[in-house]
Amino acid sequence: MSLKGKTAIITGSNSGIGLGVAREVAKAGADVVLNSFTDRDEDHALAAEIASEFGVAARYIQADLSNADAARSLVEKAGCCDILINNAGIQHVAPIEDFPTAKWDAIIAINMSSVFHTTAMALPMMRQAGWGRVINIASAHGLTASPYKSAYVAAKHGVVGMSKVVALETAREPITCNAICPGYVLTPLVESQIPATAKEYNISEEAAIGMLLERQPSKEFATTEQLGGTVVFLCSDAAAQITGTAISVDGGWTAL
Ligand code: NAD
Repeated sequence: MSLKGKTAIITGSNSGIGLGVAREVAKAGADVVLNSFTDRDEDHALAAEIASEFGVAARYIQADLSNADAARSLVEKAGCCDILINNAGIQHVAPIEDFPTAKWDAIIAINMSSVFHTTAMALPMMRQAGWGRVINIASAHGLTASPYKSAYVAAKHGVVGMSKVVALETAREPITCNAICPGYVLTPLVESQIPATAKEYNISEEAAIGMLLERQPSKEFATTEQLGGTVVFLCSDAAAQITGTAISVDGGWTAL
């Protein structure tokens, strides 16, 4: 599968799944636009590394996706967008009555509303190019729930629903929109939950990993390369009729 000549924007891609996905689409030949809210030398260095490793054009564009105008300007600054991978996300865990309003607002803005803004900006570019892929990194929590994750579960269910709407609005065009729903993937977002879980339950970090994977029947983390491979598949001709779906990459979590 060659994505040569295509440009992919990957939101939240200076770490974790976003970076892994950026590397896989670059490996498949796409030019990439990396993003996060920081503007450090090491962010730009990540783009330079991808460019030299895979022989593609790679840029880093700073945009804080908690802000609607910034989310829209990310796509505008990129200038073209054949593949939009909405991946940026944050987490906060608390019982609903203690859930800070600021955290609720931030999670809804970054994990869900940014998807609306970037998609609205990217679709006209895809129509102009006559081809497009919108791929939203949702979560198993876009299909199921866990206690204490009200904002995250609401946002991810919203992203799965929005993916269906975009699929219907583009159904007669060579554009598809799908959600990918990962179970646990070992990234900084999950790594930070391991010591927290160990502390909360007064158990070892190994036991905490076992607890995290309790809902994942494979008892293995998914990898960022596997997520990237799923994205590349969704960009292939074989996936041209796959639209409006939520594809689980969760070791069987949602089969339970
Ligand atoms: P991560 O913390 O490694 O990456 C999150 C990315 O989002 C980072 O690049 C971060 O800089 C960026 N980001 C955060 N706030 C931002 C903002 N305001 N503006 C722009 N970028 C911002 O976490 P991850 O595990 O790689 O998560 C990536 C996505 O995958 C998230 O949407 C997450 O919900 C989803 N996900 C992760 C898992 C998992 O187990 N790791 C499981 C299911 C879904």
